[in-house]
Amino acid sequence: MTTAIKENIAADDMDRANFYDVDAIRDDFPSMSLEVNGHPLVFLDSGASAQKPVQVLQRMDRAYREEYANVHRGAYKLSELATENYENARATVAQFMNAGSPDEIVFTRNATAAINLVAATYGREFLGEGDEIILSQMEHHANIVPWQMLRDEKGIVIKVAPIDDDGNLLIDAFAELFGPKTKLVAITHTSNVLGTVTPIKEIAALAHANGALVLFDGAQGIVHAGIDVQDVDADFYVFTGHKLYGPTGIGVLYGKQELLKKMPPYQGGGDMIELVTIEKTTYREPPARFEAGTPPIIEAVGLAAAIDYVTAIGQDAIAAHEGGLLAYATQRLSEIDGLTVFGRARQKCGIVSFTIDGVHPHDIGTIIDSRGVAIRAGHHCAQPLMERFGIAATARASFGMYNKKEDVDKLVDSLLYAKEIFS
Ligand SMILES: *Cc1c(COP(=O)(O)O)cnc(C)c1O
Repeated sequence: MTTAIKENIAADDMDRANFYDVDAIRDDFPSMSLEVNGHPLVFLDSGASAQKPVQVLQRMDRAYREEYANVHRGAYKLSELATENYENARATVAQFMNAGSPDEIVFTRNATAAINLVAATYGREFLGEGDEIILSQMEHHANIVPWQMLRDEKGIVIKVAPIDDDGNLLIDAFAELFGPKTKLVAITHTSNVLGTVTPIKEIAALAHANGALVLFDGAQGIVHAGIDVQDVDADFYVFTGHKLYGPTGIGVLYGKQELLKKMPPYQGGGDMIELVTIEKTTYREPPARFEAGTPPIIEAVGLAAAIDYVTAIGQDAIAAHEGGLLAYATQRLSEIDGLTVFGRARQKCGIVSFTIDGVHPHDIGTIIDSRGVAIRAGHHCAQPLMERFGIAATARASFGMYNKKEDVDKLVDSLLYAKEIFS
């Protein structure tokens, strides 16, 4: 962490917002100058998908124009170049997560596909009747439904670690869920609804002490907190490109090499085989084994460009900036009568969920959109979490590196306007 950032963290949280040159960053994002409904766009839905900097767009454009062919096949220059780009992207991802080797990085379609891959391969092969897995109460449906499908197929048992009213994982209650049949913990690194950052190192240590593996859903976590998979000792870690300022259509499964090697193939097809006869097929080593068919070639290039961009600005700087916005937003929102914030965890990133008495979250979303303010309203693919709080939906503002204090002010103004309409 640079000294500049350290000083900023030591300073009052709120002063951290806009501490870097946020306008210079905004200039890199074409969508930041859009107008929506006659108002400048205030984009507060990066938790659903982040906007893209020109560095990503231009890199992908160039790859399509000048470096395009299928990978791993042609014995010609363009195909070699495309292959090199694709494999370099894998190395960039590996370095970004501090994986031991690029061979531990499997490219998928998104985070959802990465979790399904683990459930369908590791899960089907190594989990059986009565084996237990532990999830938490704040999982995204992507980290619930694949395990339920496995439960219905194999008879595994799903246990759920509770959270407190502030959205902190109850670590003692979590620890009590382990038993001799616990095989896997699958938990989010960061809640997409509450913003809670979970103690992943402690979770991994507890899992390992109990002879279980651990999978982290890092779709939000890698964006807001970063990840060092070796330091955390994660067995699996998944994330999705589009929330990290990269393109849609690409996700990542990190898996420890010895685990990936033990896992059977997922989908069958081209590129994942060693030798095929009509009688039988032998499979390539990971990660190729898990990448059947033409992979997301240009998306990988775009993801690598996004990672380079994020790295150049600095994840610590981005986290500090967003932390400042969060503190400022939390304070400004508390000025609104009848507004309740859900999620006040000790470790929290730039996501704020809230409700306003007498106004449905969807109506909040629609009304403030008329003022150019884009937020999310709904259950955020986390219905069990909604149930935990006894609500059907929340409104959610989530910050990206390009947001600024003025965005929070516009959010608050537009919320007051929405309240007025409903009063
Ligand atoms: C967005 C999200 C996912 C799913 O990401 P996809 O890109 O839709 O696969 C999973 N978990 C969390 C916590 C998320 O925020």
